[in-house]
Amino acid sequence: MADIRVMRDDLLPPKAPPRRHLISIDDVTEDDVSRLLGTARSFERSLEREVKKLPTLRGRLVINLFYESSTRTSSSFELAAKRLSADTMSIKSSGSSVDKGESLKDTALTLGAYDPDVIVIRHPYIGAPHLVARVTDAHIVNAGDGKHQHPTQALLDLYTIQQELGRIEGLHVAIVGDVLHSRVARSNIQALTLMGARVTLVGPPALIPRGVEAMGCEATADIDAIKAADVVYVLRMQNERMQEGANYVPSLREYTARWGVTPERLRPGQKVMHPGPMNRGVEIDPTVADDADALIVTQVRAGLVIRMAVLYDLLTHGPALVGAAAKTPLEVA
Ligand code: ASP
Repeated sequence: MADIRVMRDDLLPPKAPPRRHLISIDDVTEDDVSRLLGTARSFERSLEREVKKLPTLRGRLVINLFYESSTRTSSSFELAAKRLSADTMSIKSSGSSVDKGESLKDTALTLGAYDPDVIVIRHPYIGAPHLVARVTDAHIVNAGDGKHQHPTQALLDLYTIQQELGRIEGLHVAIVGDVLHSRVARSNIQALTLMGARVTLVGPPALIPRGVEAMGCEATADIDAIKAADVVYVLRMQNERMQEGANYVPSLREYTARWGVTPERLRPGQKVMHPGPMNRGVEIDPTVADDADALIVTQVRAGLVIRMAVLYDLLTHGPALVGAAAKTPLEVA
């Protein structure tokens, strides 16, 4: 009888695949973005069915941990996890033990005890997602850390642009308003330039970060510059992140008069986007917000399928499954 040789490594259980996080647009390549947009498109088709739930992430646990207010991001992550049949828990800092003085580290250690597969975190401090990644074994998705990054917002914006304008490469996007305090702007500048779009920042000089051109974009204070863009992306004045006592603009009224996006400042057919929440009558005229060329509700819908794609990709190691010759998520499900 032939000898059966067992190599020492054969006796070891297979190694757990490496954890992957989505903390910044720096974490993704152009290929990753294309794959995620393709996955989101497959999921969009699944949502046209009468039964919208897919069994793909059955038995997985997704925890949403929000230390800042949120409507769109928190609801879409929760629904995305549910549509993929994952178990979900949503924890808001107010009403939790954070009110009793518990630190982020201790909250993360507590939640980590449930062995979550993914923790989605929004926090006012830059770097909070890294801390949670260090003290838990979960895959971490950054749903906004201070003025640093909001990567899934940028991905859903790319998806919206690609669906509505047919491409991203070669398009010109003007981002208007309070860029200085905007994580959405930072993630979008990186994501849009990564995918070959041109970005122009427009706003009061005090609200455009110094040296931002190093990110591969242009900057101007001239609101008329938005007319040349294919897409006008409007930002809110993010008062909650402004330094107390600092005067970035003489007044909100002055801001609206000089940088508010009004019908007169737009060309017919220009697409308008806004990450929400909008302050109608401040950064955006209500007629612009309600116009057929405004993609604001489309962005919200894109948020759901992009977050489904991100959860799916992190938990199934997307590249292997969603590659050109591989099955689509729907076939896998
Ligand atoms: N909702 C976006 C964010 O969380 C934009 C904003 O708050 O103005 O960053």
